[in-house]
Amino acid sequence: MPEIEAPTLLDNSPAAPAVAPSDNPLLEDWTANGGVPPFSRIRAAHFQPAYAQALAEHAAEIAVIAAQPEPPTFANTIAALELSGRILERIDNVFQLLAGAHTDEALMKVERAMAPLMARHWNQIRTNAALFRRIDAVMRTADSLGLDAEQARVVERYHTTFRRAGAALEERAKRRLAEIMERLAALGTAFSQNVLADEQAFMLRLEDEAELAGLPDFIRESLQSEATERGIDGYPVTLSRSTVEPFLQFSDRRDLREKVFRGFVMRGDNGGSTDNKAIAAEMVRLRAERARLLGYADFVHYRLEDAMAKTPTAVRDLLGAVWRPARASALTDRDAMQALIREDGGNFKLEPWDWRYYAEKLRRRVCDFDETAIKPYLSLDRMIEAAFYTAGRLFGLNFTPRPDVAVWHPDVRAWQLSGSDGKEVGLFFGDYFARASKRSGAWMMSIREQQKLGGDTPVIVNVCNFAKAPGGEASLLSFEDARTLFHEFGHALHGLLSSVTYPMIAGTNVATDFVELPSQLFEHWLQQPELLRRFALHYQTGAPMPEQLLARLIAARNFNKGFATLEYIACAETDLDLHALPPPDPGDPPLDARAFEAASLERIGMPEEIVMRHRLPHFAHLFSGGGYAAGYYSYMWSEVLDADAFAAFEETGDIFDPTTAQRLRDCVYAAGGRQEPAEAYKAFRGRLPTADALLRKRGFAAPVVAVN
Ligand SMILES: [Zn+2]
Repeated sequence: MPEIEAPTLLDNSPAAPAVAPSDNPLLEDWTANGGVPPFSRIRAAHFQPAYAQALAEHAAEIAVIAAQPEPPTFANTIAALELSGRILERIDNVFQLLAGAHTDEALMKVERAMAPLMARHWNQIRTNAALFRRIDAVMRTADSLGLDAEQARVVERYHTTFRRAGAALEERAKRRLAEIMERLAALGTAFSQNVLADEQAFMLRLEDEAELAGLPDFIRESLQSEATERGIDGYPVTLSRSTVEPFLQFSDRRDLREKVFRGFVMRGDNGGSTDNKAIAAEMVRLRAERARLLGYADFVHYRLEDAMAKTPTAVRDLLGAVWRPARASALTDRDAMQALIREDGGNFKLEPWDWRYYAEKLRRRVCDFDETAIKPYLSLDRMIEAAFYTAGRLFGLNFTPRPDVAVWHPDVRAWQLSGSDGKEVGLFFGDYFARASKRSGAWMMSIREQQKLGGDTPVIVNVCNFAKAPGGEASLLSFEDARTLFHEFGHALHGLLSSVTYPMIAGTNVATDFVELPSQLFEHWLQQPELLRRFALHYQTGAPMPEQLLARLIAARNFNKGFATLEYIACAETDLDLHALPPPDPGDPPLDARAFEAASLERIGMPEEIVMRHRLPHFAHLFSGGGYAAGYYSYMWSEVLDADAFAAFEETGDIFDPTTAQRLRDCVYAAGGRQEPAEAYKAFRGRLPTADALLRKRGFAAPVVAVN
């Protein structure tokens, strides 16, 4: 089982297994190969020696930039920093990809060793006093340097990043900050490895018809496929979201639903060596201390200062405005489901493991909508085609399969992108299927970011966890899965269409509460009849989805939206509560993650039949790294933007309107972090949005439809 490495055990020079640099594929220059790493030759043992060499090289480059005798200029300081550390970045990107998408014991060991060392490395750079003096000098004289708008923005981003990392602090504070950052990195790694361990340890093997009761063929088939993969008999239910949610939706067996539900919500909360509660508590405490050292009231204020939202009040106001109608809607649904239970002769109170099951029954009744009827029309391949088609119509992109390109697992597929002028845009990898070596969730990442300074085209990856059909059959998605595919592909386009000079502001290097705009906006096209008519084709016959079914799918879109909204907002609120805590006084009892969660839910009035989408002990957004710590609200913040942005297309009467699409590309998808997010949005839409479009989109603007 993974253990937390104490910072005192760290050594700045990772113990390198004997691999000569000449034999190390990670140290080769694969830029000539379109930026594709030589995956087939990369082994876990290559990483530590490669990291050691790349870290040393980067540190030497930084020392030269910081110590040069010439007065600071944009070229000798900012541009030089932008060009430094290229090899380290390349190696780290490959490592992060494998550590998330296809890990094993050896890679997890490397991860535990490297995470604190990488944190130390970046912390040393960003708190380097001589270097910061140069950046500060460039910043102060920026107006007289004749910089273009992008260069001026890059200077500001450097200055802000260094200041927020503690570059201006006195030495003692810097030393403490360094300890905190290394400890946080070690804890973050332990946290994700623990979740993965709990996911791998759970398996409910269904053996006979009685245990399979209610499960439609598509679920049985994907469970069978899992059994084949593991070389076992029966139908193993595992803890990936794309297995758990359909199981809870369809299984007639209330006792088994409860078992799977408990397994899922207890990840990281099972006691023993994989329990994450103490890790989460320590991370929250360290973040609070870090925020104080940097001069902020708490971590939420620290986080929001550099986000689009700016203040906690702005965020809480938005969450509160959506919470109230969503809760009313969820309670109405709950009462209707309780009535359904009584009607069925059930004499029990609706529990969290019943919600999806009765919601499905209710949906069938109210919307005459049946998930199993939709599914045969949503094959993975058709949905990939649909996403590519949308990108083609909006941005003139063409996709060519590249089966010849090296991949990290046989299920991974690669495509070459070109523009309408035939020019190469970049390379896209899709890694779609769940497997034991992959962490749960879905995400986008870069193997190589776009930038003109070093002349790189982007190499972008989507990783998902869809259930794989057995024996080469077409894999069928739920509508939620298809939305996830579009969501991640929207992020991918943000990386692929990026057209900037400097890596600092390339692609998705924007504020966290703005970064979900390109992804969530892209989801809108999937829900358009025009697109579904063309791509929702039966996986066996190729027949289009019957018009009636299509109409019902669209009509049912907002069904159970109260539940989905509550399980999300509960996470966002708890995240803010947690990161608004002051550093504890000596002698304070340690934070009890379970009790804290309960108190937050109580405060907002969470119905007891609904649980948080991510409970704290497995809340990877907050604790695996921490990119979304005090930032989980970002999805809803971005949704205000995406709901309003899609309306810009609807207002023209053409969901592919070329003029609007061009503006969207210029101001958002291609622009990276060239502007403040609010400015970028205004450039696209001519104004900032209000929450109205979001409330309409979620179906909360109209009166809640009563059922009975
Ligand atoms: Zn996203």
